[in-house]
Amino acid sequence: MSRNAALSVVVPMHNEALVLDALMARLLPVLDHIGLEAEMVCVDDGSTDDTLARLKALQADEPRVKVLALSRNFGKEAALAAGLRRASGQAVILMDADLQHPPELLERFVSLWREGWPVVYGQRRTRDTDTWIRRWAARMFYRLFGALSQTPLPPGAGDFRLMDRRAVDALNALAERTRFTKGLYAWIGFRSIAVPFDVGERAGGRSGWRLGALWRFAVDAITAFSTLPLRIWTYVGTLVSLGALLYAAHFFVRTLVYGVDLPGFPSLIIAITFFAGVQLIGLGIIGEYLGRVFTEVKQRPLYLVAEEHGFPDAPPDHAA
Ligand code: UDP
Ligand code: MG
Repeated sequence: MSRNAALSVVVPMHNEALVLDALMARLLPVLDHIGLEAEMVCVDDGSTDDTLARLKALQADEPRVKVLALSRNFGKEAALAAGLRRASGQAVILMDADLQHPPELLERFVSLWREGWPVVYGQRRTRDTDTWIRRWAARMFYRLFGALSQTPLPPGAGDFRLMDRRAVDALNALAERTRFTKGLYAWIGFRSIAVPFDVGERAGGRSGWRLGALWRFAVDAITAFSTLPLRIWTYVGTLVSLGALLYAAHFFVRTLVYGVDLPGFPSLIIAITFFAGVQLIGLGIIGEYLGRVFTEVKQRPLYLVAEEHGFPDAPPDHAA
């Protein structure tokens, strides 16, 4: 067996013991059918159930399975980064463990890749499996992201995708810590083609995403890909000052014409509280970016690996 596989399938897993068997039963026959020398890089992202033990047992009988266990739960983005770094294939496929990404689509991905497409991505047709609030939040987020950032996101594109070695190397070379992978995929470019698919129900277990986590994710995404929220305060400030000057001129003329009077406490209080609020928002936004700079400057690794099983070569320096 050569050291490098032709095709790597990277699957991040956090508490997926319930779906592992179903995943293997559907994925392995697809890999057989594709016929390329394949490896499956399973990244255990600090599961608290027996995902890791099950993976190790699977790996003992199935040489294509490789196991990378992170030292704790670092989140899906970090788990994907770990898997991408360790995947050796000429083409690398990312997919979820919960069978919401149908493994049968992999054959189509690979045949498009053979036709010369460096990136093939699954495009979700509907978000029917999501609650309305999630759908609405997602729509608002994509609209805002599109308006603020120079990197347009292709609609419906997610982590379910195949990437050529060049694209994988390009992603691996990006050193940023707070990773908004969807934006990074778009940022690296390369010709890409969409394969529409329907997102199924989770095969078992439950989604790791809570609404609060999605909010953090959205803020990270926007601060990673746009500096407009930082810069906009210059314009807001200029407008507000101009308004204040006009207002002052208005009072000046009024005083000359009608003399001095003393009404207007409500407008004073309103103006003070309003602009105090505007300043706090501005400070908060600077804080978001400063926080990002702080995380980058600390240079902590994106993830730490606790165990590796089934990889033919020695682990690389994991201080990723
Ligand atoms: N996942 C992970 N780390 C986490 C959360 C999720 O590796 O902290 C994996 C999870 O095991 C699954 C994929 O990421 O393979 C997608 O997660 P999930 O199904 O919870 O997200 P959703 O489909 O709801 O977006
Ligand atoms: Mg899922």
